[in-house]
Amino acid sequence: MAIHKCRECGNQVSTKAVTCPSCGAPVKKPGRLSTGCGCLLVGLVVLLIAGFLAQRAEQERRASLSPEQRKAEDDVKREADAKRKAEAVTGRVEPAT
Ligand SMILES: [Zn+2]
Repeated sequence: MAIHKCRECGNQVSTKAVTCPSCGAPVKKPGRLSTGCGCLLVGLVVLLIAGFLAQRAEQERRASLSPEQRKAEDDVKREADAKRKAEAVTGRVEPAT
């Protein structure tokens, strides 16, 4: 059990205490992120995992395709890329029809 100083009153507080016994201020646990930071971190991790899973699902889906289907899909992607590049050059976006 470690002891650290209360941020509010400077009293010696056990790290196991949730609040300072002297002033009642919440004790910040050392080595632990605050709730706000933790939520942000969890959100970031969830996003990363979701992105990773989406990428994996896409890879698995492509692996299950026949070579012809894969080629057709690549052609579509290349076409879309070429269109995007052309739009970037002209600086305007063609309305989707
Ligand atoms: Zn205190």
